[in-house]
Amino acid sequence: MSSPPVSLRSPPPEGALSALGRPDGTEMKPLPPGSWLGMLGGGQLGRMAVHAAQRLGYRVAVLDPDLNSPAGSAADEHLCAPYEEPRALAQLAQLCPAISTEFENVPARVLAKLAESCFVAPAATAVAVCQDRAAEKAHFARSQVPCAPHAVLASSADCEAADAALLPGILKTATLGYDGKGQRRVRDRAELLTAFRELGGVRCVLEALLPLAAELSVVVARGQDGAMSLLPVQRNWHEDGILATTVAPATGVANECIAQAEQHARAIAEAMGYVGVLCIEFFVLEDGRLLANEMAPRPHNSGHHSIDSCSLSQFDLQVRALAGLPLPAVRQHSATVMLNLLGDLWFDAQGQQREPDWAGLLALEGTHLHLYGKVEPRRARKMGHLTLTAASAEDAAALARRAAALLRLPCHA
Ligand code: ATP
Ligand code: MG
Repeated sequence: MSSPPVSLRSPPPEGALSALGRPDGTEMKPLPPGSWLGMLGGGQLGRMAVHAAQRLGYRVAVLDPDLNSPAGSAADEHLCAPYEEPRALAQLAQLCPAISTEFENVPARVLAKLAESCFVAPAATAVAVCQDRAAEKAHFARSQVPCAPHAVLASSADCEAADAALLPGILKTATLGYDGKGQRRVRDRAELLTAFRELGGVRCVLEALLPLAAELSVVVARGQDGAMSLLPVQRNWHEDGILATTVAPATGVANECIAQAEQHARAIAEAMGYVGVLCIEFFVLEDGRLLANEMAPRPHNSGHHSIDSCSLSQFDLQVRALAGLPLPAVRQHSATVMLNLLGDLWFDAQGQQREPDWAGLLALEGTHLHLYGKVEPRRARKMGHLTLTAASAEDAAALARRAAALLRLPCHA
Protein backbone atom coordinates (compact mmCIF):
# COMPACT_ATOMS: atom_id res chain seq x y z
CA MET A 1 0.00 0.00 0.00
CA SER A 2 1.41 3.39 -0.89
CA SER A 3 0.97 6.07 1.72
CA PRO A 4 -0.60 9.27 0.44
CA PRO A 5 1.32 12.52 0.54
CA VAL A 6 -0.93 13.96 3.21
CA SER A 7 1.29 17.02 3.49
CA LEU A 8 0.35 17.94 -0.10
CA ARG A 9 -3.16 18.86 0.98
CA SER A 10 -3.73 22.40 -0.18
CA PRO A 11 -6.11 24.47 1.87
CA PRO A 12 -8.71 26.07 -0.44
CA PRO A 13 -7.68 29.67 -1.20
CA GLU A 14 -10.36 31.95 0.20
CA GLY A 15 -12.75 33.40 -2.38
CA ALA A 16 -10.96 31.73 -5.28
CA LEU A 17 -14.20 30.85 -7.02
CA SER A 18 -17.66 32.30 -6.79
CA ALA A 19 -19.81 30.69 -4.12
CA LEU A 20 -23.04 28.78 -4.70
CA GLY A 21 -25.98 29.16 -2.37
CA ARG A 22 -27.41 26.14 -0.58
CA PRO A 23 -31.23 25.94 -0.36
CA ASP A 24 -30.93 26.51 3.42
CA GLY A 25 -29.33 29.88 2.70
CA THR A 26 -25.80 28.96 3.75
CA GLU A 27 -23.03 29.53 1.27
CA MET A 28 -20.98 26.72 -0.14
CA LYS A 29 -17.55 27.46 -1.54
CA PRO A 30 -16.44 25.42 -4.55
CA LEU A 31 -13.25 23.45 -4.00
CA PRO A 32 -10.45 25.09 -6.00
CA PRO A 33 -8.41 23.11 -8.55
CA GLY A 34 -5.55 21.28 -6.87
CA SER A 35 -7.84 20.05 -4.09
CA TRP A 36 -8.07 16.33 -3.43
CA LEU A 37 -11.27 14.43 -4.15
CA GLY A 38 -11.79 10.96 -2.70
CA MET A 39 -13.39 8.01 -4.45
CA LEU A 40 -14.57 4.83 -2.77
CA GLY A 41 -14.25 2.04 -5.28
CA GLY A 42 -11.77 1.48 -8.08
CA GLY A 43 -13.88 0.19 -10.99
CA GLN A 44 -14.43 1.72 -14.41
CA LEU A 45 -16.93 4.26 -13.11
CA GLY A 46 -14.29 5.54 -10.71
CA ARG A 47 -11.70 5.58 -13.50
CA MET A 48 -13.85 7.80 -15.72
CA ALA A 49 -14.59 10.05 -12.74
CA VAL A 50 -10.85 10.32 -12.07
CA HIS A 51 -10.28 11.41 -15.66
CA ALA A 52 -13.03 14.06 -15.41
CA ALA A 53 -11.66 15.35 -12.08
CA GLN A 54 -8.11 15.54 -13.34
CA ARG A 55 -9.22 17.53 -16.39
CA LEU A 56 -10.48 20.19 -13.97
CA GLY A 57 -7.16 20.15 -12.12
CA TYR A 58 -8.27 18.13 -9.10
CA ARG A 59 -6.24 15.35 -7.59
CA VAL A 60 -7.98 12.10 -6.78
CA ALA A 61 -7.38 9.45 -4.15
CA VAL A 62 -9.07 6.09 -4.77
CA LEU A 63 -9.71 3.50 -2.08
CA ASP A 64 -9.90 -0.01 -3.50
CA PRO A 65 -8.40 -3.34 -2.40
CA ASP A 66 -7.37 -4.39 -5.92
CA LEU A 67 -3.79 -3.45 -6.80
CA ASN A 68 -4.71 -3.30 -10.52
CA SER A 69 -8.07 -1.57 -10.17
CA PRO A 70 -9.04 0.59 -13.20
CA ALA A 71 -9.53 3.73 -11.09
CA GLY A 72 -6.62 3.06 -8.75
CA SER A 73 -4.21 2.97 -11.70
CA ALA A 74 -5.50 6.29 -13.04
CA ALA A 75 -5.68 8.07 -9.66
CA ASP A 76 -3.10 10.43 -8.19
CA GLU A 77 -3.13 8.22 -5.10
CA HIS A 78 -4.33 4.66 -4.72
CA LEU A 79 -5.08 3.53 -1.19
CA CYS A 80 -4.97 -0.19 -1.71
CA ALA A 81 -7.04 -1.49 1.19
CA PRO A 82 -10.48 -2.95 1.98
CA TYR A 83 -13.33 -0.41 2.00
CA GLU A 84 -13.81 -0.70 5.74
CA GLU A 85 -10.15 -0.62 6.76
CA PRO A 86 -10.12 2.12 9.46
CA ARG A 87 -6.58 3.38 8.78
CA ALA A 88 -7.18 3.72 5.05
CA LEU A 89 -10.49 5.49 5.68
CA ALA A 90 -8.77 7.86 8.11
CA GLN A 91 -6.08 8.60 5.49
CA LEU A 92 -8.72 9.24 2.84
CA ALA A 93 -10.62 11.56 5.17
CA GLN A 94 -7.47 13.44 6.10
CA LEU A 95 -6.44 13.95 2.49
CA CYS A 96 -9.78 14.68 0.82
CA PRO A 97 -12.25 17.40 1.79
CA ALA A 98 -14.91 15.80 -0.46
CA ILE A 99 -15.56 12.12 -1.11
CA SER A 100 -17.85 10.21 -3.47
CA THR A 101 -18.48 6.58 -4.28
CA GLU A 102 -18.60 4.67 -7.53
CA PHE A 103 -19.45 1.43 -5.86
CA GLU A 104 -23.03 0.90 -4.91
CA ASN A 105 -22.48 -1.67 -2.22
CA VAL A 106 -20.06 0.37 -0.14
CA PRO A 107 -21.43 0.00 3.40
CA ALA A 108 -23.54 3.07 4.16
CA ARG A 109 -21.92 3.22 7.63
CA VAL A 110 -18.57 3.87 5.92
CA LEU A 111 -20.04 6.91 4.18
CA ALA A 112 -21.67 8.06 7.42
CA LYS A 113 -18.33 7.79 9.24
CA LEU A 114 -16.50 9.77 6.53
CA ALA A 115 -19.23 12.41 6.64
CA GLU A 116 -18.20 13.24 10.22
CA SER A 117 -15.12 14.99 8.85
CA CYS A 118 -15.64 15.39 5.06
CA PHE A 119 -18.30 16.39 2.59
CA VAL A 120 -19.72 13.12 1.25
CA ALA A 121 -21.95 12.96 -1.83
CA PRO A 122 -24.15 11.05 -2.31
CA ALA A 123 -25.06 10.89 1.36
CA ALA A 124 -25.09 7.60 3.28
CA THR A 125 -28.87 7.79 3.66
CA ALA A 126 -29.42 8.07 -0.11
CA VAL A 127 -27.00 5.24 -0.85
CA ALA A 128 -28.74 3.06 1.75
CA VAL A 129 -32.09 3.59 -0.03
CA CYS A 130 -30.58 2.58 -3.39
CA GLN A 131 -28.96 -0.50 -1.84
CA ASP A 132 -32.26 -2.01 -0.80
CA ARG A 133 -34.99 -2.74 -3.36
CA ALA A 134 -37.71 -2.52 -0.70
CA ALA A 135 -36.53 0.90 0.51
CA GLU A 136 -36.08 1.99 -3.10
CA LYS A 137 -39.67 1.13 -3.97
CA ALA A 138 -40.88 2.91 -0.83
CA HIS A 139 -38.96 5.97 -2.00
CA PHE A 140 -40.58 5.80 -5.45
CA ALA A 141 -43.96 5.82 -3.68
CA ARG A 142 -42.88 8.82 -1.55
CA SER A 143 -41.87 10.60 -4.75
CA GLN A 144 -45.28 9.75 -6.27
CA VAL A 145 -43.62 7.75 -9.02
CA PRO A 146 -45.29 4.42 -9.89
CA CYS A 147 -43.28 1.18 -9.89
CA ALA A 148 -43.98 -2.53 -10.53
CA PRO A 149 -46.60 -4.29 -8.35
CA HIS A 150 -44.51 -6.08 -5.74
CA ALA A 151 -44.27 -7.63 -2.29
CA VAL A 152 -41.41 -7.88 0.20
CA LEU A 153 -40.83 -11.53 1.19
CA ALA A 154 -38.75 -12.44 4.23
CA SER A 155 -39.79 -16.07 4.84
CA SER A 156 -41.29 -19.14 3.17
CA ALA A 157 -44.55 -18.22 4.90
CA ASP A 158 -44.44 -14.84 3.12
CA CYS A 159 -43.97 -16.73 -0.17
CA GLU A 160 -47.01 -18.89 0.61
CA ALA A 161 -49.06 -15.79 1.38
CA ALA A 162 -47.88 -13.61 -1.53
CA ASP A 163 -50.59 -12.19 -3.79
CA ALA A 164 -51.22 -14.58 -6.71
CA ALA A 165 -51.43 -11.53 -9.00
CA LEU A 166 -47.61 -11.22 -8.66
CA LEU A 167 -47.14 -14.55 -10.49
CA PRO A 168 -45.56 -15.15 -12.90
CA GLY A 169 -42.97 -12.84 -11.43
CA ILE A 170 -39.33 -12.09 -10.79
CA LEU A 171 -37.89 -12.73 -7.35
CA LYS A 172 -35.00 -10.37 -6.59
CA THR A 173 -32.83 -10.29 -3.49
CA ALA A 174 -33.50 -7.01 -1.69
CA THR A 175 -29.79 -6.23 -1.48
CA LEU A 176 -26.54 -6.95 -3.34
CA GLY A 177 -28.03 -7.78 -6.78
CA TYR A 178 -26.52 -6.41 -10.02
CA ASP A 179 -26.32 -7.29 -13.73
CA GLY A 180 -29.24 -9.73 -13.34
CA LYS A 181 -27.52 -11.55 -10.46
CA GLY A 182 -29.65 -12.43 -7.42
CA GLN A 183 -32.80 -12.84 -9.54
CA ARG A 184 -35.02 -15.74 -10.53
CA ARG A 185 -38.01 -15.80 -12.85
CA VAL A 186 -40.81 -17.81 -11.25
CA ARG A 187 -43.96 -19.09 -12.96
CA ASP A 188 -45.92 -20.33 -9.97
CA ARG A 189 -45.85 -20.63 -6.18
CA ALA A 190 -43.83 -23.86 -6.19
CA GLU A 191 -41.10 -22.17 -8.25
CA LEU A 192 -41.29 -19.14 -5.97
CA LEU A 193 -40.59 -21.27 -2.89
CA THR A 194 -37.69 -23.05 -4.62
CA ALA A 195 -36.21 -19.75 -5.87
CA PHE A 196 -36.53 -18.19 -2.40
CA ARG A 197 -34.54 -21.11 -0.94
CA GLU A 198 -31.99 -20.99 -3.78
CA LEU A 199 -31.40 -17.30 -3.17
CA GLY A 200 -30.47 -18.20 0.40
CA GLY A 201 -33.73 -17.44 2.18
CA VAL A 202 -32.72 -13.76 2.37
CA ARG A 203 -35.20 -10.87 2.23
CA CYS A 204 -36.45 -10.53 -1.35
CA VAL A 205 -38.80 -8.49 -3.46
CA LEU A 206 -41.23 -10.34 -5.71
CA GLU A 207 -42.27 -8.28 -8.74
CA ALA A 208 -44.92 -9.16 -11.25
CA LEU A 209 -43.38 -10.05 -14.61
CA LEU A 210 -44.35 -7.09 -16.78
CA PRO A 211 -44.83 -6.87 -20.55
CA LEU A 212 -42.03 -4.43 -21.44
CA ALA A 213 -42.14 -2.37 -24.62
CA ALA A 214 -38.91 -0.53 -23.82
CA GLU A 215 -36.43 0.27 -21.06
CA LEU A 216 -35.26 3.80 -20.36
CA SER A 217 -32.82 5.41 -17.98
CA VAL A 218 -32.32 8.97 -16.82
CA VAL A 219 -29.11 10.32 -15.34
CA VAL A 220 -29.77 13.31 -13.10
CA ALA A 221 -27.20 15.40 -11.28
CA ARG A 222 -28.30 17.50 -8.31
CA GLY A 223 -26.03 20.06 -6.69
CA GLN A 224 -25.81 21.22 -3.11
CA ASP A 225 -27.84 24.26 -4.08
CA GLY A 226 -30.66 22.01 -5.35
CA ALA A 227 -30.01 22.79 -9.03
CA MET A 228 -30.50 19.82 -11.33
CA SER A 229 -29.05 18.89 -14.70
CA LEU A 230 -30.19 15.88 -16.73
CA LEU A 231 -28.64 13.82 -19.50
CA PRO A 232 -30.90 13.08 -22.47
CA VAL A 233 -33.25 10.17 -21.73
CA GLN A 234 -31.61 6.92 -22.81
CA ARG A 235 -33.10 3.74 -24.24
CA ASN A 236 -31.47 0.48 -23.15
CA TRP A 237 -31.36 -3.16 -24.24
CA HIS A 238 -29.99 -5.96 -22.08
CA GLU A 239 -28.52 -9.36 -22.95
CA ASP A 240 -28.54 -11.98 -20.19
CA GLY A 241 -29.33 -9.29 -17.62
CA ILE A 242 -26.37 -7.09 -18.64
CA LEU A 243 -26.71 -3.81 -20.51
CA ALA A 244 -25.74 -4.38 -24.15
CA THR A 245 -26.89 -1.29 -26.10
CA THR A 246 -27.87 2.28 -25.21
CA VAL A 247 -29.33 4.78 -27.66
CA ALA A 248 -29.51 8.49 -26.78
CA PRO A 249 -31.72 10.33 -27.16
CA ALA A 250 -34.14 7.44 -26.79
CA THR A 251 -35.84 6.50 -30.07
CA GLY A 252 -39.16 4.74 -30.65
CA VAL A 253 -40.76 6.03 -27.44
CA ALA A 254 -43.55 8.65 -27.24
CA ASN A 255 -42.43 12.20 -26.39
CA GLU A 256 -44.89 12.36 -23.45
CA CYS A 257 -43.24 9.27 -22.00
CA ILE A 258 -39.78 10.86 -22.31
CA ALA A 259 -41.00 14.04 -20.63
CA GLN A 260 -42.57 12.00 -17.85
CA ALA A 261 -39.34 10.06 -17.28
CA GLU A 262 -37.50 13.37 -16.83
CA GLN A 263 -40.16 14.64 -14.47
CA HIS A 264 -40.05 11.44 -12.41
CA ALA A 265 -36.24 11.54 -12.24
CA ARG A 266 -36.37 15.09 -10.89
CA ALA A 267 -39.04 14.17 -8.34
CA ILE A 268 -37.06 11.14 -7.12
CA ALA A 269 -33.83 13.13 -6.68
CA GLU A 270 -35.63 16.06 -5.07
CA ALA A 271 -37.54 13.90 -2.57
CA MET A 272 -34.21 12.50 -1.30
CA GLY A 273 -32.46 15.87 -1.18
CA TYR A 274 -29.94 14.00 -3.29
CA VAL A 275 -26.52 15.50 -4.05
CA GLY A 276 -24.46 13.95 -6.81
CA VAL A 277 -25.30 11.84 -9.85
CA LEU A 278 -28.23 9.45 -9.70
CA CYS A 279 -29.49 7.14 -12.42
CA ILE A 280 -33.07 5.89 -12.50
CA GLU A 281 -34.08 2.95 -14.70
CA PHE A 282 -37.63 2.86 -16.06
CA PHE A 283 -39.85 0.33 -17.78
CA VAL A 284 -42.21 1.37 -20.56
CA LEU A 285 -45.06 -1.14 -20.64
CA GLU A 286 -46.84 -2.30 -23.76
CA ASP A 287 -49.87 -0.21 -22.73
CA GLY A 288 -47.64 2.89 -22.63
CA ARG A 289 -47.38 3.21 -18.82
CA LEU A 290 -44.04 4.28 -17.36
CA LEU A 291 -42.81 2.59 -14.15
CA ALA A 292 -39.62 3.17 -12.19
CA ASN A 293 -37.51 0.00 -11.98
CA GLU A 294 -34.50 0.78 -9.82
CA MET A 295 -31.87 3.43 -9.25
CA ALA A 296 -28.13 3.66 -8.81
CA PRO A 297 -26.52 6.35 -6.60
CA ARG A 298 -23.75 7.04 -9.11
CA PRO A 299 -23.04 7.43 -12.81
CA HIS A 300 -24.46 4.52 -14.80
CA ASN A 301 -23.34 2.32 -17.66
CA SER A 302 -26.15 3.75 -19.81
CA GLY A 303 -24.73 7.28 -19.39
CA HIS A 304 -21.21 6.51 -20.65
CA HIS A 305 -22.05 7.89 -24.10
CA SER A 306 -22.18 11.39 -22.57
CA ILE A 307 -18.36 11.55 -22.55
CA ASP A 308 -18.42 11.68 -26.35
CA SER A 309 -21.92 12.94 -27.18
CA CYS A 310 -22.67 15.73 -24.69
CA SER A 311 -21.33 19.08 -23.56
CA LEU A 312 -20.87 17.59 -20.07
CA SER A 313 -20.50 13.92 -19.24
CA GLN A 314 -22.10 12.19 -16.28
CA PHE A 315 -18.61 12.10 -14.73
CA ASP A 316 -18.15 15.85 -15.23
CA LEU A 317 -21.47 16.30 -13.45
CA GLN A 318 -20.40 13.98 -10.62
CA VAL A 319 -17.17 15.92 -10.09
CA ARG A 320 -18.94 19.27 -10.26
CA ALA A 321 -21.59 18.19 -7.73
CA LEU A 322 -18.86 16.93 -5.42
CA ALA A 323 -16.68 20.02 -5.76
CA GLY A 324 -19.60 22.43 -5.39
CA LEU A 325 -19.29 23.74 -8.96
CA PRO A 326 -22.26 24.82 -11.12
CA LEU A 327 -24.34 22.26 -13.04
CA PRO A 328 -25.48 23.97 -16.25
CA ALA A 329 -27.88 22.27 -18.66
CA VAL A 330 -26.33 19.47 -20.68
CA ARG A 331 -26.47 19.83 -24.47
CA GLN A 332 -26.23 16.71 -26.59
CA HIS A 333 -24.14 17.60 -29.64
CA SER A 334 -24.17 14.19 -31.37
CA ALA A 335 -26.68 11.40 -31.74
CA THR A 336 -25.18 8.31 -30.16
CA VAL A 337 -25.22 4.57 -29.61
CA MET A 338 -23.19 2.85 -26.90
CA LEU A 339 -22.20 -0.81 -27.10
CA ASN A 340 -20.80 -2.59 -24.06
CA LEU A 341 -17.61 -4.59 -24.57
CA LEU A 342 -17.68 -7.69 -22.39
CA GLY A 343 -14.81 -10.11 -21.87
CA ASP A 344 -16.50 -12.59 -24.26
CA LEU A 345 -15.17 -10.46 -27.10
CA TRP A 346 -11.62 -11.56 -26.26
CA PHE A 347 -12.42 -15.23 -27.05
CA ASP A 348 -12.99 -16.88 -30.43
CA ALA A 349 -15.59 -19.58 -31.17
CA GLN A 350 -13.12 -22.26 -30.00
CA GLY A 351 -12.62 -20.48 -26.68
CA GLN A 352 -9.11 -19.30 -27.60
CA GLN A 353 -8.13 -15.86 -26.34
CA ARG A 354 -7.68 -13.24 -29.07
CA GLU A 355 -7.38 -9.46 -29.37
CA PRO A 356 -10.38 -7.82 -31.05
CA ASP A 357 -9.72 -5.94 -34.30
CA TRP A 358 -9.34 -2.48 -32.77
CA ALA A 359 -7.55 -1.00 -35.78
CA GLY A 360 -10.37 -2.07 -38.12
CA LEU A 361 -12.88 -0.58 -35.73
CA LEU A 362 -11.07 2.70 -35.21
CA ALA A 363 -10.89 3.20 -38.98
CA LEU A 364 -14.64 3.98 -38.84
CA GLU A 365 -15.31 7.70 -38.39
CA GLY A 366 -17.31 8.42 -35.23
CA THR A 367 -16.05 5.55 -33.08
CA HIS A 368 -14.85 6.27 -29.55
CA LEU A 369 -13.25 3.26 -27.90
CA HIS A 370 -13.00 3.14 -24.10
CA LEU A 371 -11.06 0.29 -22.49
CA TYR A 372 -10.85 0.19 -18.73
CA GLY A 373 -7.36 -1.24 -18.35
CA LYS A 374 -8.59 -4.50 -16.81
CA VAL A 375 -5.82 -7.07 -16.96
CA GLU A 376 -7.84 -10.25 -17.38
CA PRO A 377 -10.70 -10.60 -19.88
CA ARG A 378 -13.41 -12.85 -18.44
CA ARG A 379 -16.79 -13.75 -19.89
CA ALA A 380 -19.50 -11.25 -18.89
CA ARG A 381 -16.85 -8.91 -17.42
CA LYS A 382 -17.23 -5.28 -18.47
CA MET A 383 -13.88 -4.58 -20.19
CA GLY A 384 -14.83 -1.39 -21.98
CA HIS A 385 -17.45 0.28 -24.11
CA LEU A 386 -17.73 1.72 -27.56
CA THR A 387 -19.53 4.97 -28.28
CA LEU A 388 -20.61 5.76 -31.82
CA THR A 389 -21.48 9.35 -32.61
CA ALA A 390 -23.04 10.89 -35.72
CA ALA A 391 -25.08 13.87 -36.89
CA SER A 392 -28.38 11.95 -36.88
CA ALA A 393 -29.91 9.03 -34.99
CA GLU A 394 -30.11 7.04 -38.25
CA ASP A 395 -26.42 7.56 -38.98
CA ALA A 396 -25.42 6.66 -35.42
CA ALA A 397 -27.48 3.45 -35.63
CA ALA A 398 -25.98 2.53 -39.02
CA LEU A 399 -22.47 3.12 -37.69
CA ALA A 400 -23.24 1.04 -34.58
CA ARG A 401 -24.45 -1.83 -36.75
CA ARG A 402 -21.25 -1.71 -38.82
CA ALA A 403 -19.05 -1.63 -35.73
CA ALA A 404 -21.03 -4.43 -34.09
CA ALA A 405 -20.77 -6.59 -37.21
CA LEU A 406 -17.02 -6.03 -37.29
CA LEU A 407 -16.65 -7.10 -33.66
CA ARG A 408 -19.43 -9.72 -33.88
CA LEU A 409 -21.36 -8.03 -31.08
CA PRO A 410 -25.11 -7.81 -30.53
CA CYS A 411 -26.55 -4.43 -31.52
CA HIS A 412 -30.14 -3.35 -30.89
CA ALA A 413 -29.87 0.09 -32.51
P1 ATP B 1 -28.54 -3.70 -13.02
O1 ATP B 1 -27.39 -4.33 -13.71
O2 ATP B 1 -29.21 -2.67 -13.85
O3 ATP B 1 -28.25 -3.27 -11.63
P2 ATP B 1 -30.19 -5.63 -11.79
O4 ATP B 1 -29.53 -6.94 -11.76
O5 ATP B 1 -30.16 -4.82 -10.58
O6 ATP B 1 -29.65 -4.83 -12.99
P3 ATP B 1 -32.96 -5.17 -12.66
O7 ATP B 1 -32.70 -3.89 -13.31
O8 ATP B 1 -33.94 -5.17 -11.56
O9 ATP B 1 -31.66 -5.93 -12.15
O10 ATP B 1 -33.43 -6.23 -13.76
C1 ATP B 1 -32.60 -6.56 -14.86
C2 ATP B 1 -33.44 -6.65 -16.12
O11 ATP B 1 -34.44 -7.68 -15.99
C3 ATP B 1 -34.23 -5.40 -16.41
O12 ATP B 1 -33.44 -4.44 -17.08
C4 ATP B 1 -35.37 -5.95 -17.28
O13 ATP B 1 -34.91 -6.22 -18.58
C5 ATP B 1 -35.66 -7.29 -16.60
N1 ATP B 1 -36.71 -7.13 -15.56
C6 ATP B 1 -36.49 -6.80 -14.27
N2 ATP B 1 -37.65 -6.72 -13.60
C7 ATP B 1 -38.63 -7.01 -14.46
C8 ATP B 1 -40.07 -7.10 -14.35
N3 ATP B 1 -40.71 -6.88 -13.21
N4 ATP B 1 -40.75 -7.45 -15.48
C9 ATP B 1 -40.12 -7.68 -16.65
N5 ATP B 1 -38.78 -7.61 -16.80
C10 ATP B 1 -38.03 -7.27 -15.73
MG1 MG C 1 -31.21 -2.69 -13.66
